[in-house]
Amino acid sequence: MQMRVSSKSVADLAIRGGAPAFREALHVGRPNLGNREDFLRRVNQMLDRNWLSNDGPFVQDFEARIAERLGVRHCAVFTNGTVALELLILAMGLHGEVIVPSFTFIATAHAVLRQGLVPVFCDVDPSTACLDPAQVERRITPRTSAILGVHCWGRACPVDTLAEIASRHRLALLYDASHAFGNSCGGRMIGGFGRAEVFSFHCTKFLQSFEGGAVVTDDDELDAKLRLIRNFGFNGVDNVVSIGTNGKMTEVAAAMGITSLESADEVVAVNTRNRRLYEDALKDVPGISLFRSDVGEQQNHQYLVALVAPSESGLSRDLLVDVLHAENVLARRYFHPGCHRMEPYRTMDPAAGRFLPQTERLSSAVIVLPTGPQLQPDDIALIGDILSLAVDNAGLLSSAPS
Ligand SMILES: *Cc1c(COP(=O)(O)O)cnc(C)c1O
Repeated sequence: MQMRVSSKSVADLAIRGGAPAFREALHVGRPNLGNREDFLRRVNQMLDRNWLSNDGPFVQDFEARIAERLGVRHCAVFTNGTVALELLILAMGLHGEVIVPSFTFIATAHAVLRQGLVPVFCDVDPSTACLDPAQVERRITPRTSAILGVHCWGRACPVDTLAEIASRHRLALLYDASHAFGNSCGGRMIGGFGRAEVFSFHCTKFLQSFEGGAVVTDDDELDAKLRLIRNFGFNGVDNVVSIGTNGKMTEVAAAMGITSLESADEVVAVNTRNRRLYEDALKDVPGISLFRSDVGEQQNHQYLVALVAPSESGLSRDLLVDVLHAENVLARRYFHPGCHRMEPYRTMDPAAGRFLPQTERLSSAVIVLPTGPQLQPDDIALIGDILSLAVDNAGLLSSAPS
């Protein structure tokens, strides 16, 4: 059914657009649906009890399960991860400048700006793709109120060093843990670091609830404040005690979240197997390497990240992505370009790139490849063959008119 590629065919396919190696597109971030019968049973339960939103039984159950799994006192779920992050920034009373990586999904920066604060972009450590503590110190000014780290692709930030810096400069510390559900750092679950951490349960994320997000924290007061804000500031019936908005997760979303959570261990097992297969498939391909994972830590391996070194592969990252797309392997360039090159940040500070050499380098080198239960071992071998043949035919591909 799936054709084997020959060195002639890969050049042929990529350049002239013949039949792709995969008949059906392989996407990055296909939803982990969990058991369909379990989900539908929950939907029926929800309809039978006619409780569709407003802190319903599924939302409470989802929150309790997350808090227990992560070993934190509180979990509050929200409409989505971006709203969760915005409302956390509001509840923490941050002001002035917040230090964030530019190498992240744009929502990290947008959440800061939409709360009236200035995101100050900081470079990342190329070995972790997370905030580089030495650079963080350099970006602190008298206006800085917080450091917002991102556990990029699920790898933990240097949490101890960042905690030390935050405490020495009296700054708040919080994390965007959108990629890192179920991962650990030094044997402790991500979710327990900083004053609070935010997860996204968007359907492309490891744990998904169609759309959804959460703030987890050990801080009782902060959790109570967040619960007020997500429900218009209502404290009981007819009693509004603070500013608020509508950030509530629906019951059907929580039902999906619970169902997805129940299959989390299976998905980790498949993703871990896939990672090993990719390591095998790519080990002899010059110039393409897998991004290092945290050995000895729990990892969801939701992001299968490869780095391209054109000096060795003979091919640019973008050309390799084009070759993969021609074969129906819909690889992504997460994150490209950095936030500082997107609006409105580019206009706010056109020269921000001078502080961000590692961000520039990483964002031009990454390819995120498909993984998850959609992939069979043969598929990964075939993707390895495609990449290997592309590199073997680098000269031919690079000189082809696009
Ligand atoms: C997905 C994501 C978000 C936003 O989450 P949504 O649930 O889509 O709003 C924020 N930050 C990072 C790093 C993300 O990957």
